[in-house]
Amino acid sequence: MTWQSPIAPGISWYQASVGERPEYPELDGSVSVDVAIIGGGFTGLQAAFNLRRLGASVVLIEGSRFGDGASGRNGGQLGTGQRAWPAELEEELGYERSKALFDMAENAKRYLLDFAEQHGIDMEYMPGQMNVAHKRGWEKDYRHDADVMAERYGYPHVSFMDEAETQERLGSKRYHYGVRDSGTGHIHPLKLLVGLARVAASAGAMIHEMTPARAIRQAGGKTVIDTPKGTITADRVLIATNAYIGNLEPVTAAHVMPIRSFIGATVPLDTFPEVLPGSEAVADSRFVVRYFRKTQDGRLLFGGREAYTSDSPRDISSHIRRQIAEIYPALASVEMTHAWGGSVGITMPRKPFARDVLPGVTSLAGYSGHGVMLSNYCGKMYADTIAGNARELDALKDLKIPPFPGGGRLRKPLLFLALTWYALRDRF
Ligand SMILES: Cc1cc2nc3c(=O)[nH]c(=O)nc-3n(C[C@H](O)[C@H](O)[C@H](O)COP(=O)(O)OP(=O)(O)OC[C@H]3O[C@@H](n4cnc5c(N)ncnc54)[C@H](O)[C@@H]3O)c2cc1C
Repeated sequence: MTWQSPIAPGISWYQASVGERPEYPELDGSVSVDVAIIGGGFTGLQAAFNLRRLGASVVLIEGSRFGDGASGRNGGQLGTGQRAWPAELEEELGYERSKALFDMAENAKRYLLDFAEQHGIDMEYMPGQMNVAHKRGWEKDYRHDADVMAERYGYPHVSFMDEAETQERLGSKRYHYGVRDSGTGHIHPLKLLVGLARVAASAGAMIHEMTPARAIRQAGGKTVIDTPKGTITADRVLIATNAYIGNLEPVTAAHVMPIRSFIGATVPLDTFPEVLPGSEAVADSRFVVRYFRKTQDGRLLFGGREAYTSDSPRDISSHIRRQIAEIYPALASVEMTHAWGGSVGITMPRKPFARDVLPGVTSLAGYSGHGVMLSNYCGKMYADTIAGNARELDALKDLKIPPFPGGGRLRKPLLFLALTWYALRDRF
């Protein structure tokens, strides 16, 4: 029977096309390890794999199945740098820190592509990504950002696209200009995740699905995690639950907010060769970003972030098709084969959240829609800290990430109001 994620709506096209998705057993009994990891997305599984390479004993528990969280259901776009442009980060943090964060992201990209190649994971990588403007008026900024990337950050792969080039590469007249990045690309994220779980298990990590952490407590200098059928006692713990933190740990929950994002997949667009003829991925300039790309078999995967009254796949499908038709009127009645959603973990300043929340307990989350490559690398950086190399991860721990205002009860309503306001601004 087809598996429905209990934590996110709809069956994804990724799930339908991933091939074999092995199941892993629940944790049944109690264990004692060097490091325990809560959450089996990219962050947690990469940490598990890299910790095993360093010789640590590791248990990882996933409350649902691997791939049910954001890592198996996202837009698959790697991007470049951090979520904010380097010029923006430089204004706030100065050149040295901004460059260190840019270099970290480039290391993340290289790490991910090498990891997949070394372990024979075919994650259907396709090159190219474009950022396009839905409004006129920012052209100078776009040109400037491309120049800054080349001249100050040593990244020569971003070029400015004028209106004619933008429209030709998109196959749509909806956007005015943009930048094209030939140094990055997009992937089938669930193929990566399934391969990563296999690699982590082969390296000797004890990995368990359907095993939610119910509570984290400290006793006798160690951390104890309660699960339905046993406890885990560990010297160190990594919380890698991202947007799905719930009430498990209050510091992470106060700093990382879940936002639902939705994606629809069309049938292969064989009769529309003008749509993304170069098969690059696209992200637009809206606050509620629209992101889309073609798959290797020619489907359009189209994502947008909106609140819906109902999360049923039918509602998601028709809403996404309306958004597609705004950009590609010829696709107004295109057949949608799959529609699904997932939760993105965002922070107030849209930068990753990395913090020691209790003695020996670290939390990594809040990649703010830019986590496909960063979350993989954060898992690796966490393992490096256990081996005494904390320098790279410290650059993230040093970022100022304030909690969301409003405390436990008002956080979500206040965020909803703010997001609705920004979403409205996209329309004018
Ligand atoms: C629809 C969508 C589109 C996106 N598109 C992009 C994109 O194109 N590019 C990009 O860079 N990023 C994108 N992202 C973000 C990206 O997917 C994430 O940043 C990244 O996958 C985070 O990985 P993670 O391992 O930290 O979290 P997740 O993959 O969410 O994993 C967290 C896991 O923790 C588990 N968990 C939670 N609580 C418990 C508990 N108590 N006990 C045990 N397990 C628990 C959950 O079940 C989940 O599997 C998108 C996200 C979504 C939802």
